[in-house]
Amino acid sequence: MLQTPATFEPVIRPQDHDHPLTFVFHRGELLLRNSVMGLPDAAHLRGLPLAPERIHPLGLWEGRYYQAAWLDEPLLPGADFGYHGMRGLFGVLDDGFLGVAGRAFQLVEWARTHRYCGVCATALQLLEGERCYKCPNCGHSAYPRISPAMMVLVRKGEQVLLAMHTNSPYQRYTALAGFLEAGESVEEAIHREVFEEVGLKVHNLKYFGSQSWPFPHSLMLAYTADYLDGEIRVQPSEIADARWFGPDDAWPELPVKVSIAARLIDAHRPR
Ligand SMILES: [Zn+2]
Repeated sequence: MLQTPATFEPVIRPQDHDHPLTFVFHRGELLLRNSVMGLPDAAHLRGLPLAPERIHPLGLWEGRYYQAAWLDEPLLPGADFGYHGMRGLFGVLDDGFLGVAGRAFQLVEWARTHRYCGVCATALQLLEGERCYKCPNCGHSAYPRISPAMMVLVRKGEQVLLAMHTNSPYQRYTALAGFLEAGESVEEAIHREVFEEVGLKVHNLKYFGSQSWPFPHSLMLAYTADYLDGEIRVQPSEIADARWFGPDDAWPELPVKVSIAARLIDAHRPR
C-alpha cells in the first residue's frame, strides 16, 4: 500500500549532508533518471535553477537524506532524465519509495501554491523549524493543506456495494467515496454521500484505516457500513454504475493495489 515506510524519519530543519537525494517535481510529475528509475543527486542538479528557498528538507531513510523541490518548467539535467506522473509509477517503483514521494509532492505543492498571502498578497516567509508560511504584514499563516475524504464499503448480508465513479481516472469498480464538507464529521459525510450517490441508508459504521493520497492532498478515511434501507438509485453526475456483488457474482476489476480501497475491498470480499 502507498504509505510512508516505518523506518522513514521526517526532518523539518535542513541538514548538511554529503549526498542528498532530491525529489524534484514539475507540477504533478517527478524527475527521475530513466536508466535506473532513481532520484537525481546533487551533482545532477547543479545546472538546474533550484533556488535554496525552493528546496525543502524531507527526511532520513535507509541512511540517505531526502529533500523535495519544484521547478516552474520541466527542465532536464541530461538526456537520461524524464518527468513521470506518480500514478504511472504504481507497481513500477517500490510502494515505500512512492509513499515518500507522495509526502514530497504534497510538501512542494504547498510551497508552490503559498508564495503570497491570500489575505494581503504580501510575499510569505517560511518559519524556521516549522512547516508554516507566515505573512510578515498581516500575520496570516498557511500550513500544508490536507483534504479529508471518506470511503465506505456498504455491506448487505454476503454482498458488498461497488460503484464506478463517473470521473474516476481508472474506470474500475470501487467503494463509495467523497470529500468532507466544511463543518461535517466523517460519519455525517458518509451518510450524506451514500444517500446522494446511491440513494441508500446505512448504519453500523466501523472505521477501517486511513491513507494519505497525494492527488493532490487527500487523506482517505476508510469505513465499512451495513445496509439499512432503500433501493439503489445512482446520481448520474457522480456514479456511472453501482451494484451489489456477492460470492457467486463475477468480480469486477478492482482499484489499484496501492490504494486503501483495494485493501478495504479485499478484507471484506465475499468468499
Ligand atoms: Zn498578509
